[in-house]
Amino acid sequence: MDAKIAVIGTGSIGSMTLWQLARAGVDAIGFEQYAPGHDQAAAGGESRIFRTAYLEGPQYVPLLLRARELWRELEEETGFDLLTLNGGLMIGHQESEPMRIVLASARNFDLPHRVLGVEEMRREYPQHAMRDGEIAFFDEWAGVLRPEFAVLAAATAAQQRGAQVVSGTHVTDVEPHGDGVRIHCGDRTWTVEQAIVTAGPWTNRFVPSLAQHVHPRRLVMTWYHPSGSVTDYLPDRFPIFIRDTDDVHVFGIPTLDGGSVKVAPHASFGQMDDADHLDHNVAASDLEPINAAVAELFPGLVPTPVRVAAYMDAYTTDGHALVGEMPGTANVWLLGAFSGHGFKMAPAFGQVAAELAVDGKTSLPIEHLDPNRFLT
Ligand SMILES: Cc1cc2nc3c(=O)[nH]c(=O)nc-3n(C[C@H](O)[C@H](O)[C@H](O)COP(=O)(O)OP(=O)(O)OC[C@H]3O[C@@H](n4cnc5c(N)ncnc54)[C@H](O)[C@@H]3O)c2cc1C
Repeated sequence: MDAKIAVIGTGSIGSMTLWQLARAGVDAIGFEQYAPGHDQAAAGGESRIFRTAYLEGPQYVPLLLRARELWRELEEETGFDLLTLNGGLMIGHQESEPMRIVLASARNFDLPHRVLGVEEMRREYPQHAMRDGEIAFFDEWAGVLRPEFAVLAAATAAQQRGAQVVSGTHVTDVEPHGDGVRIHCGDRTWTVEQAIVTAGPWTNRFVPSLAQHVHPRRLVMTWYHPSGSVTDYLPDRFPIFIRDTDDVHVFGIPTLDGGSVKVAPHASFGQMDDADHLDHNVAASDLEPINAAVAELFPGLVPTPVRVAAYMDAYTTDGHALVGEMPGTANVWLLGAFSGHGFKMAPAFGQVAAELAVDGKTSLPIEHLDPNRFLT
C-alpha cells in the first residue's frame, strides 16, 4: 500500500480532508492536477462568504457552527488570517421564503442577530439603496473567508503533520481492487485502502450513475470601485450581504484590496459541458444586469466593473451536495457538487470525510446530502 487513504483533488474540501486525516494521525496522500491554492476551479477570486443563519436550510447550521470552530483552529495552527467575522446582511421581503428560513435558523439555534427595517438600514448602512417593503436580517456570525490562502493553509498543515501531496498529477481513474483501491495517474498507479473523491467541478466524471443530476456551472464575479472614499466599504463598515428581492439576486463582500468592492450575481451563468473548458471571457452583454443592479442599489459605486473573473462549481439538480459512499463503489467516498455554497463549510466537510473513511460514520448531520437520494 502507498498510503491508507487517498484524497482525489486537494481544493476546498480535499485540502481540509487531508488536514483532518493528518490531525487524526492517518497516513494520507492527496492528488491534485494543479497545486493547492490554485484559482482554476471553485476556490478562486479572493473571497468567499461565511454565514450561519442559512437560507439554504436550517439543517446546515450544525455544520456551519462546527466549520466556524475549525476555521479558527486552522488559523491558530498555521498563522494564516482566513476568516473575518464582520457580520452579514440578508436583504429581502419579510414574507419571502429565504427570509423565513433565515429567521427560523436564527431562532432554532439561538444565533445572534438583528432585524433592521428600511429606515434603520438607511441610517446604519446608507451604502445600500433599500426598496420599500424590504427588511434586512443581520447575522452576527457572518463574514469573509480567503479561499486561496485557506486551501494552501490546510494543505500545508496536513503536510507538516505527515500527509503527502502529489501536485501536477491528473487522476484518470479510481478503481476498487480487492480490499483496496487503485488510483491511476497516467503512467503510475497507486494503491490505498480507501479513497475520498473531492474533485469539485469535475465530480461528474467520477460518478457516471449520477451524470444527469450533476453538472459543472460557470459563475462570474465582478468588482466595482467606489465613486468617493473607500472607507465606507471596509470590512468594519460594510458587512457581507446577500440580496434576493424580486428581480434582484446579488451578493457582496467589502473591499479586501483597499479599492474594489465585490458585488456579483447570486446565480450561475449556466451549465458547462465540461469543466476542462471554462470560458474566462465575459461578454459585455452578460454584465448588463449586474451593472444595472449596482446602479440602482449602490449609489456610492461606479456601475462599471474594474475587475471581472469566471470560476466554476459543480451543481446538483436540487442544489445540495453529494456526501457519502460513492454509489456502487466499495471503499470510495464522495464529497462533491457543493452547488455554489460549499466553501464556508469546507473544514466541517473535511471532518465528515475523515470520520467516514476512518470510522464509517460521522458525528455531523449529512443525511440530506446522501448521494443515493437521486438513485431511489
Ligand atoms: C464564483 C464562486 C463564488 C462562490 N461563493 C461562495 C461563497 O461566498 N460562500 C461559499 O460558501 N461558497 C461559495 N462558492 C462555492 C464554493 O466555492 C464551492 O462549493 C467549493 O469551493 C467547492 O469545493 P470543491 O472542493 O468541491 O471544489 P474545488 O475547490 O474546485 O476542488 C476540487 C479540486 O479537485 C481537483 N481535481 C479535479 N479533478 C481532478 C483529477 N482528475 N485529478 C487531480 N485533481 C483533480 C481540482 O483541480 C481542484 O483543485 C462559490 C463558488 C464560486 C465558483
